[in-house]
Amino acid sequence: MTTAVAHKAQASDIATQIMQAMRGMGVSPIPRNYQLFYEAYIGTNPALARELSQYSLRAPRQEELDALAAAHLGHNGVSAVERAHSRLQGELDGLLKLLRDEQASLETYNRLLGETASRISTKSTLSVDLIRNVIEILAEATDETLANGERTAEGMAHHSQEMEEVRRELDEYKRIANTDSLTRLANRRAFDERLAAIYDDPMQLPVTALVLADIDNFKRINDTHGHPVGDKILASVGAIIRSSLRKDVFVARTGGEEFAIILEHKTLDEVMEICERIRRALEARPFRNSRTGVDYGPVTISIGFAMGSQAADPGELYVRSDTALYCAKHGGRNRTVLFEEGMRKEYSGKGWLIYRQ
Ligand code: GH3
Ligand code: MG
Ligand code: MG
Repeated sequence: MTTAVAHKAQASDIATQIMQAMRGMGVSPIPRNYQLFYEAYIGTNPALARELSQYSLRAPRQEELDALAAAHLGHNGVSAVERAHSRLQGELDGLLKLLRDEQASLETYNRLLGETASRISTKSTLSVDLIRNVIEILAEATDETLANGERTAEGMAHHSQEMEEVRRELDEYKRIANTDSLTRLANRRAFDERLAAIYDDPMQLPVTALVLADIDNFKRINDTHGHPVGDKILASVGAIIRSSLRKDVFVARTGGEEFAIILEHKTLDEVMEICERIRRALEARPFRNSRTGVDYGPVTISIGFAMGSQAADPGELYVRSDTALYCAKHGGRNRTVLFEEGMRKEYSGKGWLIYRQ
């Protein structure tokens, strides 16, 4: 075997092994996943290889693979956004050039009109030849200016269309960046932004609540029925919470099996009522596999909340709602607790201790 052929055979072996590894892990065999696995396989990126090897119990989701690619290979949502920006820049440059050309063409036409007018006005008698000559020049210049205007209009329509496309693309990137892939709810990043905005309007703080909900004993569901079932239940719980609230209410998945709701224009009693309605809706909901009949339930949530006026800033509001949530867990789970002054949560080294003074 010549060296070139040997290299080729080796490369195709590697490709086969990589494809097998991808199949074994339940990864979709698309080019960008192949590139990720290739980098991990050939050993140039041990950190990436280590992170991929952690998916021995369940298949990584595409979003997780894309996040790994973003972190390790540097081609990601950000560079796609950068590409969209430079495309937008290119379209804008094109548009500016068109407008400048159009302006220059109108100025030339204007100058010609001015010059012609002054030529005519300085003559005491106008010969037929001169008039014919002037008309011809003006007609030609008018045609040219009109044609130029049409080209500008066409060019502008084209650039606007392209820019509209880039705008839609950027909107989509923004949506992806703010969405949790499993539940399709807002993600932690969107939540942090939204939470910070609560304190923009101090007048609203007494009627704004941060509600945190956490699935009870979720680890048991994962341990008993497996992670994929856990994922399905997580998605269902997210959907149930979402559908129990008006469309304009902000709902996010803020972490593993924790959800956050921001309720506005609601009194403390109304917030309590809404939380209890969601909690009872989940409690009453059967969770079973429609094909095998296996019962996964009951699935319950504990809820803690604090009103905006009970904290000085977004960080404190989060901690206070979270403390109330811990009190709900300590109180026996499947309940709603409002934060009260004197509630504290401390880590003992073994677990969280809750104090109520
Ligand atoms: P508690 O009632 O005190 O909240 O108990 P818990 O078991 O729900 O809480 P714990 O924090 O001990 O466990 C949370 C579990 O949630 C552990 C983790 O494996 C699981 N989890 C986190 N994220 C996901 C996910 O995306 N999918 C699945 N299936 N499980 C997840
Ligand atoms: Mg939990
Ligand atoms: Mg949790």
